[in-house]
Amino acid sequence: MEDNMELHRLLNRQIQKHLAVPEETMKHLHGLLHAISQSYVQFDNDRVFLEHAMMQSSNELLSKKQVITNLLETQTKAIESLRASIAGLIPDSHLNANDDIMAIATLLQNEVEGRKNAELQTEQINKRISYLLNSLRLGMVEYDLTGKIERAHDKFYEIFEWPSESLTGECISSLVSGNGEENYLNKFLGSFASSDGIVLELPLATYNRKVFWALCSIAPVYDPKGLRKGSVMVVFDINAQKNLEAELRNERVKALEALEIRKSIMANVSHELRTPLNAIVGMSSLLKETPLNPEQSEYVDTLNNSSNGLLTLINDILDISKIESGALVMEKTTFSLHQSIHTLRKTLNVKAQEKGIKLRLITDSDLHGYHIGDPTRLNQVVTNLVGNAIKFTSKGSVDIIVELVEDLKTDQVIRISIRDTGIGIPEQSMKSIFQKFSQADLSTTRQFGGTGLGLNIASEIVQLMGSEIKLSSQLGSGSTFSFTITLPKADAPEQDVPQVPQNKSLEGYRILLVDDNNVNLFLAQIILKKWQAQVTTATNGEEALKAMHNSKFDLVLMDLQMPILDGFEATRIVREELKDLTPIIAFTANALNSEKDMCLSIGMNDYLTKPIQPDQLFLAILRILQNNEQLKTA
Ligand code: ADP
Repeated sequence: MEDNMELHRLLNRQIQKHLAVPEETMKHLHGLLHAISQSYVQFDNDRVFLEHAMMQSSNELLSKKQVITNLLETQTKAIESLRASIAGLIPDSHLNANDDIMAIATLLQNEVEGRKNAELQTEQINKRISYLLNSLRLGMVEYDLTGKIERAHDKFYEIFEWPSESLTGECISSLVSGNGEENYLNKFLGSFASSDGIVLELPLATYNRKVFWALCSIAPVYDPKGLRKGSVMVVFDINAQKNLEAELRNERVKALEALEIRKSIMANVSHELRTPLNAIVGMSSLLKETPLNPEQSEYVDTLNNSSNGLLTLINDILDISKIESGALVMEKTTFSLHQSIHTLRKTLNVKAQEKGIKLRLITDSDLHGYHIGDPTRLNQVVTNLVGNAIKFTSKGSVDIIVELVEDLKTDQVIRISIRDTGIGIPEQSMKSIFQKFSQADLSTTRQFGGTGLGLNIASEIVQLMGSEIKLSSQLGSGSTFSFTITLPKADAPEQDVPQVPQNKSLEGYRILLVDDNNVNLFLAQIILKKWQAQVTTATNGEEALKAMHNSKFDLVLMDLQMPILDGFEATRIVREELKDLTPIIAFTANALNSEKDMCLSIGMNDYLTKPIQPDQLFLAILRILQNNEQLKTA
């Protein structure tokens, strides 16, 4: 240790202040003190160095702080602009002012994921729609308000035979064919303004302008703000159906024409058949009333039966034709069921007696006096069933049973059964005998005769009456045919239906008989003269008008189909031009309902069909003359 070595001034001060030691001791302490002094020096140096270092760090910190401050400002601005963008991008994001970048990042991440999922779903939905449209054979197209196509699906391209992807930008209206009698293009354009979905059948055109029919369902499309932005149309090719429809329409027209032709053929055929038959039936009944020997009488009977059989057949065929064309309409008149069935039994009893079987009538005493219905058609059904029962029964009896099933306030439910003890019907034929031209056993045709039409007509008529014919039968023991009808009750008519009197007399009445067929004229004349009527004849409408101009008649019997001037036109002139109200009865060989309606509509008073059935003719004349008398005295 060096003696001259200076101690640190501070140390020196401390030694002098606190250690008052002798020089010798000081010498000993000097080394220690020197070391301590050195430490102080070192301490000073370190402090200076530290102060310097701290100064430097502080400056550095200040500049770093500035950098950080700048960075923070930029970051805040960036976050604000990010927040603004997010608010625009995700309207319902609900970001708070104090949401930091992490919150925004999370939000963005969620949004991106959500959008990815949505895109995936949209893609899947689009795929499913495409699959459905393809498999349902539906073409779908979307277009804007001006009709510019925005997107067309695959099937749409296929249906319209356009090269794929080439329809975008085309105008949808160019796909609608302007051809045809109706302006379909206008109809289609109407859908642009419609705020509802509409469905149209339109003729459309393919790429090569081939026209085809399609069912087009068009719906408006709106943007998220609810503003109309265009339409979507789904098309379904219905060309095949349309062609079929057109074919069916043609077929229908043809069928209707054929039906009309058939009706007129039926009317003509029935006229042509009935005219000579009228002569045969009429002449044979006149002949029957002249003195005949037994052999001649038998011949006349055969003639009578055969012509009556032929007449039944013609009537049956006419009925079938009427049923098939829907022209058979049930009438609604007041009649006495009791009286009707009694008369029918009386007529058919002749046949039953000839065969030696009993025809009994069993009626319910509670039956109402009068009903409303179609007595002619009801008689036709019962006559057919009783006729068959007599035909197929060789011993025993046939019963007509009229039962009251239910007595309602305004209606009566009535069951009519025809029971016989005849040959019966085999089980397997029970259904088929109701079909046309069907018989239970073909061999019976020879034994019993018949055409197989009667039951078919009867069952059709009963169906028109709202019922059906039921059958129970046992082979060898007999059959029962029955049907139940509901008839409204009616009051007794003011004037009782006139009965054919024993002594028919038209004495003092002047009748004009108009017919172009000489035999008909001759026959009717004989019958009318037998009833002491004064008869004038005319062979066409023109002659009839002349006769009516020259004399006054109580009644005109007018044929319809005649040369020069037919019965319709003659009647029209009498009623409309001459204002003449002389009663006119149409007397025709046709038997079509349409003709009857026409006769009544042009002012005729009644309608009779040939061949002449004297009783019917007498009753019709009587009814009209009595009515006229009443009018005169009123
Ligand atoms: P048709 O009597 O002219 O042959 P229908 O249509 O009236 O025609 O009858 C058809 C068939 O039904 C008859 O041919 C007969 O085989 C059978 N049939 C009808 N009624 C009877 C009955 N009461 N008893 C037995 N068979 C019957």
